[in-house]
Amino acid sequence: MDEIMTFILAPAAYLALLLLYLLVVPVIAGLRGAALVSELLGRYCLLLNGVLRLRTPEFVTVPPYRPADELAHRNYFFGPATRDLRQLLTQGRRLYVGTVTDAYRRVTNRQFTAPTTHRAVSVPYGLTLYLGLGVGAAVAIPTLGALLGVQALGVALLAGGARLTALTLRATDRTVMILRGLPRGMLCPSCFERVPHPAYDCPRAHCRRRHADIRPGTFGLFRRRCACGEQVPTLLLLMSRDARLSGHCVHEHCGKPMNLDAGHMPELILPLIGGRAAGKTQLMAAMVKSLENTALDGGPAIRLADPESTANQRVLNEVLEIQGHTRPTQKTLPRAHSFVRGSGRAERLVHVFDTAGERFVNREETDALRYVRAARTFVFVLDPMAVDVFWTRLDPAGVKLDRTLASTVDPEDVFSRSVQTVRTMGTSLDKARLAVAVSKRDLLAGQPALLPDRPDDSDAVRKWLGERLGLRNLVSTMDLEFGEVRFFCTAAVADETGQVDPSIGVFVNWCLRE
Ligand SMILES: [Zn+2]
Ligand SMILES: [Zn+2]
Repeated sequence: MDEIMTFILAPAAYLALLLLYLLVVPVIAGLRGAALVSELLGRYCLLLNGVLRLRTPEFVTVPPYRPADELAHRNYFFGPATRDLRQLLTQGRRLYVGTVTDAYRRVTNRQFTAPTTHRAVSVPYGLTLYLGLGVGAAVAIPTLGALLGVQALGVALLAGGARLTALTLRATDRTVMILRGLPRGMLCPSCFERVPHPAYDCPRAHCRRRHADIRPGTFGLFRRRCACGEQVPTLLLLMSRDARLSGHCVHEHCGKPMNLDAGHMPELILPLIGGRAAGKTQLMAAMVKSLENTALDGGPAIRLADPESTANQRVLNEVLEIQGHTRPTQKTLPRAHSFVRGSGRAERLVHVFDTAGERFVNREETDALRYVRAARTFVFVLDPMAVDVFWTRLDPAGVKLDRTLASTVDPEDVFSRSVQTVRTMGTSLDKARLAVAVSKRDLLAGQPALLPDRPDDSDAVRKWLGERLGLRNLVSTMDLEFGEVRFFCTAAVADETGQVDPSIGVFVNWCLRE
């Protein structure tokens, strides 16, 4: 009887119970699977928080970008977002394998290795849990994959958007520069090269990191964040009027500061050509001073564009007021004398170049005169006292003047060589304008025989130069080379109240006309 019990009834009862149990297997397995999926999702959320927000060392698997080495912080969508995705993928995979393995190990321990109930109960129950874990692990893969995929898609779209924004901003900046007449960039007042994108120093006092190219891109779209944390606008357009940053020339061996206003407005370049001691520096000073006089009388505003120009003008103003004479321009490479004239849309950054006449003579030095390429108006300073005829033929009674004040360079010589030089630089002059400033009118005042009949009339001066001073060839070469030529008799002096001679005002207005 016992055998019947042991070998027939008990197994039959057990089988019957097992069959009944089979009915609830899907429920148990399903619940275990759901629990696993939910555990995985919970842990993935913690991982997201750790990788994207906390950024503590345990969540770092890919070395971060180092602002200290790169000078600035990267825009999130230029690198860091992809790095986060890679970290999530590595750590997510690790998290998945770890969680699933742990769950299986727990079931194995509790139901198979060291069960707390009879194996007849624990083994089927353990197998059910195995099944549930298997299903859960299989379902979790696409779920987690979808989460990561959605994030990757978002990052890809935003990164694309960020690149498109950067390109659009750059294109806008470029268009504005072309509209300002600066397609090749702004002029460096020290080396005369064009600088399309100057370098900028971080405005924070103790930082001063130099950023070579701040345009929208990897390190920021609208603002670039310096490694020190300071924000720098990425475009000239985004620099407000009173927060303009001063750029630096990016050409080798230069690196000098650009004008604060460079790039914010069209530029005018005005080279003064003339022999040594012809009166160029003085004329330049008188031009600026005359514009200052006009501004005081309600004319267009003017301000000097950089500290060097301001300091030079201060010295030159004193020379003008004592009606003295400046020393000949040094042969060293000049720096532009720069000022900003006008306001609003009419604002212009004007660079006047006072170039030593010798520069135009030595062929190997002329490459330093690159600025003439951008000039549309030229000024030729003609010292009538440098012409021999002036001393011998103009006044039969003899000229009572100090001949040491005269330039010793023949104007015809300087002019032809200068034109030659400008032409070899590939600049065409037939659309350019030439203002001929006959200088030192102040010295000749009171000696009408030494001046044209009507010194304020261009044609009278032209006739006088050709007929009385014997410069017919020079005048006709000028007419031939330049699109438009105008003659002025100028007195580069100021009276004791600081008012510059009126001849300068007319002359400078013509030069700055566009
Ligand atoms: Zn430079
Ligand atoms: Zn900084």
